[in-house]
Amino acid sequence: MENSNKVTRRRIYSREEVCVGCRLCEIYCIAAHSEYKNDLIKTFKKISKRRPLPGIIVEERKPISFGLQCRHCEEPECVKACITGAMQKNPETGVVTNDAARCIGCWTCILACPYGVIRRDYRERKIASKCDFCMENGGEPVCVKNCPNEALYIGNVVEESNMVEESNRGFREMEGRA
Ligand code: SF4
Ligand code: SF4
Repeated sequence: MENSNKVTRRRIYSREEVCVGCRLCEIYCIAAHSEYKNDLIKTFKKISKRRPLPGIIVEERKPISFGLQCRHCEEPECVKACITGAMQKNPETGVVTNDAARCIGCWTCILACPYGVIRRDYRERKIASKCDFCMENGGEPVCVKNCPNEALYIGNVVEESNMVEESNRGFREMEGRA
């Protein structure tokens, strides 16, 4: 039988068994999206009110912790719900981003997202804030790159017979956990 599985997009996965809850992913995400671009000292010394929100949220209930961010869904509920067209999915990269110029901060996308990964940003005006897969950084997520324990990794999402299976198989095989 023909294998109809196909990779539809990439997303970031978290391995809670090795996450130590240091929140460096949040810190590097904030810096990468600040006006000082990846400069941690300036980002955290020079700006406070203007500091961006992180696209990743570290959930913690000791001893368990893990990073959570946008899954860049195949059929994003946030995009469907957005009343201004600010929330969009790039048809080539599959990445879902929010166009700040069009966002009016109505929070409809926050209600629609099943994963609770969109935040309210009140810095200058009300606006929705979420992970943009570091597209301004060449699509190389700084949270993944800077995790000291490799608790975050990029994996493929595989679509099979109209079902979306979030497949970690390659990673698990690598680790002998398949
Ligand atoms: S914000 Fe939520 S609904 Fe929208 S793509 Fe990300 S995970 Fe999916
Ligand atoms: S991929 Fe980039 S924008 Fe998304 S959480 Fe990681 S560092 Fe933040």
